[in-house]
Amino acid sequence: MLDFDDVLTNTPSSEHTRVSPAPSTRVNVADKRAINGRTDVNQLVPFKYHWAWDKYLAGCANHWMPQEIAMSRDIAQWKDPRALSADERLIIKRNLGFFTTADSLAANNIVLGTYRHITAPECRQYLLRQAFEEAIHTHAYQYIVESLGLDESEIFNAYHEIPSIRAKDEFLIPFIDTLTDASFKTGTPSTDQQLLRSLIVFACMMEGLFFYVGFVQILALGRQNKMPGAAEQYQYILRDESMHCNFGIDLINTIKQENPHLWTPAFRAEIIDLMQQAVELEYRYAEDTMPRGILGLNAPMFKEYLRFIANRRLQQIGLDAHFANTGNPFPWMSEMIDLKKEKNFFETRVTEYQTGGALSWD
Ligand code: FE
Repeated sequence: MLDFDDVLTNTPSSEHTRVSPAPSTRVNVADKRAINGRTDVNQLVPFKYHWAWDKYLAGCANHWMPQEIAMSRDIAQWKDPRALSADERLIIKRNLGFFTTADSLAANNIVLGTYRHITAPECRQYLLRQAFEEAIHTHAYQYIVESLGLDESEIFNAYHEIPSIRAKDEFLIPFIDTLTDASFKTGTPSTDQQLLRSLIVFACMMEGLFFYVGFVQILALGRQNKMPGAAEQYQYILRDESMHCNFGIDLINTIKQENPHLWTPAFRAEIIDLMQQAVELEYRYAEDTMPRGILGLNAPMFKEYLRFIANRRLQQIGLDAHFANTGNPFPWMSEMIDLKKEKNFFETRVTEYQTGGALSWD
């Protein structure tokens, strides 16, 4: 018979089963590896990668659901021809068009790709949380599209139809395809570099750069009391995404530390080159979504800002700053990332999740 703790961990203790595993089969903490580790990746504890477990706990503490956020003011503004300009409406539609695809690409990348290649159970635990957060983000965009009564096919097909969105996705897809290819396996310097390159593109360029024009635009609208519900959703998404980006950076640095031979001068030069391409693509997206400038924002401000973020991402993975003429015209963005749940969760927030209260044992 199992006691309550056994039920919680779902593992019969040796006390009850009286089976002692052969010591040689035990996972030694020191043997855990971020990549190419033991094939037995099921032993979460003892911990080696505390940083990954801490991020898993932080992700859970930040849990939110899109339908907790009231959209009534957004709906009223969207229906009122005077409440939002044509340029503001374009920004909202382009944003939703980009992000719906981006977050589902992110989910595929984790579930069909990255997860298989990462052998640290603590990291896998975080990736499971992250995958669900990507689903919540896609849900949030769907919820905004539905609330506003937008043309669903126009928004969800934007990646086929809007060149500046398509260009960003086309840049990302080969790196995601590498990881999701069923025949791709790590274990040689070349394949390990392929994995590392894809992880860098995903964390530092996709989640860490390609999301930022969109975040600034929607949050700038929210600061002017325009589309407050959508802006609040984006604020939670930004908080989650900044955690995803930081997790990715910690994972990249761990892989580097465990496999220093991968970090060759040629590889580093290639990363700088990719970052230059990413900055260019994101700047084109800024120009396309803000042909005239609105809300005290215009495309040229983003040129400085994107270089500023790109330098920060390069430095976070141990490379030198590469871009000159950088600046941060949006210092208020850091407040948005540091959002505290109690500060900002409005009366719409539910305090208990139904799933917890609905458990029944009879
Ligand atoms: Fe993400």
